[in-house]
Amino acid sequence: MLESAKHHPSYYELVAISGEENVRDNAIDLLAYSRDASPFQLDSPGIVVRPGCTEEVSKILKLANDKKIPVVPAGARSSINGAPLPRVPNTIMLDLTRMDYLKKLDEDTMTVTVGAGLRWAELIHLLKEKGFKLGFRGPYGGNAGTVGGSLSGNSIGCGASKWGGACDSVVGLEVVLPTGEIVNTGSGWNPKAKTFARYTTFNDLTGLFLGDHGTLGVKTEATLKVYYTPNGVAFADYGFDSIEDCAKVMHELQRRNLAEELVLLGDRNSIDLLANSYLDFYEHLECILAVIIEEENEEIANKKKDLVDQIAKKDGRSLGTFLSKAHWTDMFNMVQPLFDSGFWYNTCHLRPISTLPQTVKGALKIFKKYDVKSKGMNWIISALGVDRSYCTGWITLFMGDPKNKPLMEKVWGELKQMEFSTGGAVPYWCGPLWEGECLSQVSPNFYGLLKKIKGTLDPNNILHPLVFGL
Ligand SMILES: Cc1cc2nc3c(=O)[nH]c(=O)nc-3n(C[C@H](O)[C@H](O)[C@H](O)COP(=O)(O)OP(=O)(O)OC[C@H]3O[C@@H](n4cnc5c(N)ncnc54)[C@H](O)[C@@H]3O)c2cc1C
Repeated sequence: MLESAKHHPSYYELVAISGEENVRDNAIDLLAYSRDASPFQLDSPGIVVRPGCTEEVSKILKLANDKKIPVVPAGARSSINGAPLPRVPNTIMLDLTRMDYLKKLDEDTMTVTVGAGLRWAELIHLLKEKGFKLGFRGPYGGNAGTVGGSLSGNSIGCGASKWGGACDSVVGLEVVLPTGEIVNTGSGWNPKAKTFARYTTFNDLTGLFLGDHGTLGVKTEATLKVYYTPNGVAFADYGFDSIEDCAKVMHELQRRNLAEELVLLGDRNSIDLLANSYLDFYEHLECILAVIIEEENEEIANKKKDLVDQIAKKDGRSLGTFLSKAHWTDMFNMVQPLFDSGFWYNTCHLRPISTLPQTVKGALKIFKKYDVKSKGMNWIISALGVDRSYCTGWITLFMGDPKNKPLMEKVWGELKQMEFSTGGAVPYWCGPLWEGECLSQVSPNFYGLLKKIKGTLDPNNILHPLVFGL
């Protein structure tokens, strides 16, 4: 273990709160904490603290507020958008990953309360052992990503087609405000009540902190909805000659809420990278839709699959189950290796499913214009059904040779512009990846309200300053 430098002006006060072993300000640790999983490089934290409980977080925020020292909360720093990186010097970075406990699984109210630093993969495992599942299971970076990080960054991922994104799974939060007060939201406003309902007597204060990127409070605990583990699972892959046909079927399945997960591969190149054996058998295969169904028992799951079959085969053909099974059974591990190949050049965003063909064609046009394949670059175009009626656009570029970085960044920028201006799309998280585009388009009234809320909750602007331009 490396010795702390003990240079930070609050070093000794922070040690008094969280213990010497949980406070670090040596150059090597600070360098490690100055990166997430994106290509962005902003500032380094001035010191890192790993609080072990809510009271410690509260004391640290009171200290920081009194001394006007900036604080950045962080989970696993697995973001692919630069969100957890400090924007100003000398910050205290709060690494929440020590708060990784399952506090209570409540079968009475079908909820689980966890520490904000618990990783999704661990939570899924703990619940499975007891016969429960989550609706939204975590982002595909869920081996690392924490519950608190995903709720702060509005993650979309596994299970989102049926259950919505991370924030849709929340019943209540425990949050520490920038001034140190501890607040419980949902039915938790009443200390004598269980946290079982999100929308109760007062305003929905839970929503105030969801997707806030750590600018309004530090989440210390979250209560999420749980369900019994299903006994019936069915898989199906369908192939299509065009993105229009594939998107049409995806839209209908999504609107009818038939699948737990719907994943689309949007062009031959993406199929070649992820499911190339299908290309040997089907000559005109342009897109694939992978469908996963989960139900109480096999009989219901298979009946649903019959319905899906009827809809999908109107415009497509049945391929088998390879992609849907691989996607579902190895959910987090499948995406992880892509990260090593340059997955961080992503353009993840949300859009109406009806606009998918437009954006897929726009992306292919850009790739052709720059002839990116001949420069050693590659891409995956995919989409995931979300919350009944819309989807993600997941278009990711892979750099190959690092000397192509300047061209890569040019293509990446053009891709983002095209996606933002095609068919009413919005990003689901922000960070430096999307901040410029978002701030240039946000309505003045919306932004004015955000500023008022921030000014009221965080009068000294200590919590993640400059994020969202605040
Ligand atoms: C291989 C791979 C696959 C991925 N797949 C997906 C995907 O499918 N969908 C997706 O959405 N993302 C994906 N990601 C990105 C990332 O894993 C998720 O966004 C994840 O939710 C981030 O969680 P984290 O704990 O790492 O948060 P961090 O990156 O540490 O932080 C995210 C934001 O939340 C704030 N924050 C963190 N903890 C707290 C807290 N307790 N209180 C207040 N604010 C806090 C931070 O300041 C920051 O603004 C992927 C990443 C990788 C590497």
